[in-house]
Amino acid sequence: MTELNTKAFCDESKKVFTHPNGFLVMNAKNLIELNGIPCEIRNEFASGATGELSFVDAWPELWVQDWYEARALNVIDSLEMDITSGAWSCCRCREENEASFDCCWKCLQDRADD
Ligand SMILES: [Zn+2]
Repeated sequence: MTELNTKAFCDESKKVFTHPNGFLVMNAKNLIELNGIPCEIRNEFASGATGELSFVDAWPELWVQDWYEARALNVIDSLEMDITSGAWSCCRCREENEASFDCCWKCLQDRADD
């Protein structure tokens, strides 16, 4: 039984979310923790650590223990739905912006009030 217990605490982590916008990854982390799921961000400082990493490799990643994966993915699903439903287009450059942005990520135009 001791062996089984040890195995259960092995580092069986799953990546549940990654995004080039570190702010969104932090958001997801907070939301997951609010749901009682411990999680951690990896790769957070990767982009500054070395110039040799590819762009995708340097995205911050959110990891949970594998037995929390399904619950964490549920939380992420609702988060992504929020992002999509609140998306807005810039009135200057027509770029799509996520709901959490107060100004356009591309041209910094302020978000117009609807
Ligand atoms: Zn714009």
